Amino acid sequence: MNVKILRLNKAGVPVSWLTREEAATLLVKEQVMWSLGAVVAELYGGYNNSGIQSVLRLPSIVACEGQVHNAKYNAPLDNRFLFRRDRNVCLYCGKTFHSRDLSRDHVTPVSRGGLNAWTNVVSSCRRCNNRKADRTPEEAGMELLAVPFAPNQYEFLYLSNHNVLADQMDFLSARFSHQLKE
Ligand SMILES: [Zn+2]
Repeated sequence: MNVKILRLNKAGVPVSWLTREEAATLLVKEQVMWSLGAVVAELYGGYNNSGIQSVLRLPSIVACEGQVHNAKYNAPLDNRFLFRRDRNVCLYCGKTFHSRDLSRDHVTPVSRGGLNAWTNVVSSCRRCNNRKADRTPEEAGMELLAVPFAPNQYEFLYLSNHNVLADQMDFLSARFSHQLKE
């Protein structure tokens, strides 16, 4: 399993996922201020003069030095994350699809002034997308099964990693504003 380590800024807000190597580098450089969660990996290093091998224990969550950005968070809009937000369900017919059979539907079509933004896009199967065409759901007589939302930072980090560990999930889900899990 490709374990990732959750990086927080010094204010305790999650900012990204780190590889084991990246987390180890931050620990060695003493840029980790505090950590949380279980040890997810042990990395063995060199031996000291007494013949004791160094070992670096990587926790699942690390809070690091660095700038804190207070600007409003904008999750990048990408179909991988969009389909995961909608749990691979077409929000018009309610059926589950493989990602390759889903498309991004603009609820208010772009040609009608709709934005390409999280709050105006939903996962849609091709059939529903074709049927809806260049119309609003009201005009097409197609009801949306859920209101599209922009993920907050906690939700986005969950959406962008398929191997979220239990303690990372506990940390992230405490600040979810929407139902993301089954
Ligand atoms: Zn559909």
